[in-house]
Amino acid sequence: MKHFSIVVLMSIATFAVAQPTVLKCGNLIDGKSANALGKKAIVIEGNLIKDIIGWDKIPANATLIDLSTKTVLPGLIDCHTHVLLQGDITSEEYDAQLLKESIPYRAIRASVAAKIALMSGFTTIRDVETEGAMYADVDVKKAINNGVIPGPRMFVSTRAINTTGHYPTGNGEYSWELHMPKGIQEITGADEARKAVREQISYGADWIKIYADRGYFQKPDGSFGSIPNFTKEEIEAVADETVKSKRMLAAHAMTPDGIIYALKAGARTIEHGSALNEECMDLFIAKNAFWVPTITVMDYVAEGRAKLGAVSYLQMYKGVKPLFKKALEKGVKIAFGTDAGGFDWIKLPQAREFSFYVNYGMTPMQAIQTATTVAADLLNKKGQLGEITVGAFADVIAVDDDPLQKIEALEKVTFVMKNGKVEKR
Ligand SMILES: [Zn+2]
Repeated sequence: MKHFSIVVLMSIATFAVAQPTVLKCGNLIDGKSANALGKKAIVIEGNLIKDIIGWDKIPANATLIDLSTKTVLPGLIDCHTHVLLQGDITSEEYDAQLLKESIPYRAIRASVAAKIALMSGFTTIRDVETEGAMYADVDVKKAINNGVIPGPRMFVSTRAINTTGHYPTGNGEYSWELHMPKGIQEITGADEARKAVREQISYGADWIKIYADRGYFQKPDGSFGSIPNFTKEEIEAVADETVKSKRMLAAHAMTPDGIIYALKAGARTIEHGSALNEECMDLFIAKNAFWVPTITVMDYVAEGRAKLGAVSYLQMYKGVKPLFKKALEKGVKIAFGTDAGGFDWIKLPQAREFSFYVNYGMTPMQAIQTATTVAADLLNKKGQLGEITVGAFADVIAVDDDPLQKIEALEKVTFVMKNGKVEKR
């Protein structure tokens, strides 16, 4: 016992005299300011940012990490990922993962996806459901937090919820004698909706994810429609139970039929939302909700799905650019989300999403802020994540080229620090 006390005292003493780590930045983008801040230095203490100082104020005895030739930014946040999915343009690709791979095998693949995200500069992800892998996202998050595997901070939503018969696998494609695994938790009725939310939260869900609509189609006037999946009682029960339990609701919705329904029920975020209209945009603003457009996945799946007969994806993808511009002009909060996992983690960089946003009318700084301060706001983590300011978590990345000149620079992240620990250098 005595020996133990001495060890504790010695480590406290060692900690007290430890010198701060200082990141010497060639150019600092803090995620918050309208302009880059130029040559700065970030003082890190433990897992937090302690100070932002000029180069001339760097203490002589600091542990210096030299990023003086690089542009330094906050760790990026991807608000829409699936670490337990590895690409699903076709239903065959989706079904193969649910039918041929065990959940432990899928979790091993998820650990690779999590590492890819972190090494690509995404120090935080909101992972919006496991697609049939039950609560394995909670395990991946736990393994990361316990230092078992490298990966980003994770906000997880476990199984997601849809109504009976409206989500793969099964639904007429296989013999009805088979009990097919489902990519979501099926519910019918308000009581089952509440039960699903309660179960998912009890097993570790930070967010609740629902699929608000299906059966997308283009109308003769060029606009899009869909079928809402939930009854009013069901979706309101989900939202009520979620909010009461201090969680937040993410809703997959593609067209106004689903988007308006979900926003009115209390969804904080709309996932994809590719066929939104001006009524939706006004409602986003009125409800202080976020649009997570996931253009990368639309670009990835649209052609392939159209070839297989699902032309609405391609039609919606072709129409999204002017809608994005309009939403931006109106002031809809647009948060960065890729749907990585909906495309193969290995094949495409998550940061490709930035190029779409710039191409669709954002300035590079606006695009960067979708994955920093706006994403942190979505997560209700303002001041803690997505910014390089005093008191925020020390999540910091660096790139060799200037992303304000060339947004693709974010596809080559050369330095990653998460929670004060260097993960890539
Ligand atoms: Zn998704």
